[in-house]
Amino acid sequence: FTVLAVESSADDTGAAVVTSSGNILSNIVVKQHQIHEDFGGIHPYKAVQAHQRNLPGAVRKALTDAGLTVTDVDGIAFTRGPGMPGCLGAGATAALTLAAALNKPVVGVHHMQAHALTALLTSAESPPEFPFLTLLVSGGHTLLLLASSLTQFRILATTPDESIGRVFDKVSRMLALPWSSLGPGAALEDFCRSSSEPSGDCDSSRHVVPVLPRTMPGAMAFSFSGLHSAVERFVTAHGGAQALDITTKRELAREFQRAAVGQLEEKVGLALHWCQMRGIDVRHIVVSGGVASNAYLRDRCALRLSAQEASPHIPISLVFPPPSLCTDNAVMIAWASMHRFLARDFDNYSTTILPKWSIEELSG
Ligand code: ATP
Ligand code: FE
Repeated sequence: FTVLAVESSADDTGAAVVTSSGNILSNIVVKQHQIHEDFGGIHPYKAVQAHQRNLPGAVRKALTDAGLTVTDVDGIAFTRGPGMPGCLGAGATAALTLAAALNKPVVGVHHMQAHALTALLTSAESPPEFPFLTLLVSGGHTLLLLASSLTQFRILATTPDESIGRVFDKVSRMLALPWSSLGPGAALEDFCRSSSEPSGDCDSSRHVVPVLPRTMPGAMAFSFSGLHSAVERFVTAHGGAQALDITTKRELAREFQRAAVGQLEEKVGLALHWCQMRGIDVRHIVVSGGVASNAYLRDRCALRLSAQEASPHIPISLVFPPPSLCTDNAVMIAWASMHRFLARDFDNYSTTILPKWSIEELSG
């Protein structure tokens, strides 16, 4: 079964062709974050316009790269939610109209389910087995979930304030860091790295920057606004980003990254303990979403797990999709639609988008 999928929930336009055996025949992602930099975040109207401009070409290229014509495709998938309403609408209208015109089945996919299930595609040799824990860290979400099946997700923790990805973006902009084609979050990670300390770990030897606070130690819930404000206070108190010397700026960026990632590590550790106390036999932890492309986060999670694992003697594997499939893409949408196509559980051509859609509602 061959699926053509489109993804347009935020600021990247994606189109991809994937088969039910897990072959990625094409993967087109058109990044548009540079359009939004002056605005300091995603500008809703400009994002919709960019999707309208990019979708036709992305779909054309996805088919060409796959060596297929649209009639060769068996089904069409799109991101139904959650996401920005106008952006979701652009992709949904394209997919539903294409499917209706071609009389092909269509499936609307939950974006966060797709981030979580990417690991089943990219680790096909030794796929994570249910139940597994999944940490989804992205531009709009910071979620710690217990996944019991393809459609059953229980939210163990989330953030009442900002998502980790958004705070990476804001801190990166606040520090006026050098541009990265991968966006401000990736720019912050790059800036933290230097030739003497490639890991990007924090060198607090000068102690110019205060150690940023731990948030709600012992609780599973996340919170990033305190960290965000602490960085802002430091920058303001020192006369703004332009007034900071490069060494202090790097130290601050590293301290931020250490504190933000430290919180993720700690909460994953707590969630694992929570499962173990309830006899839930978790053997895999999937980490996905845009922030999961961060190499420092990958290293820290691995270190933390090896330390925690020593006691219960249960081997637990960390699963990270490759960075390019952690950030938004249509491959994950195609893959997450596959079980529904195979079960002939299609949507109507009149299906509407769900900009606010909890992952817990998937199982009905
Ligand atoms: P959601 O999935 O919640 O709807 P989204 O789709 O906008 O949000 P993703 O594309 O999944 O988000 O992730 C984008 C986020 O990931 C951005 O906030 C970006 O800054 C962050 N990000 C990307 N690469 C890195 C990195 N290397 N280090 C830290 N953050 C990163
Ligand atoms: Fe996403």
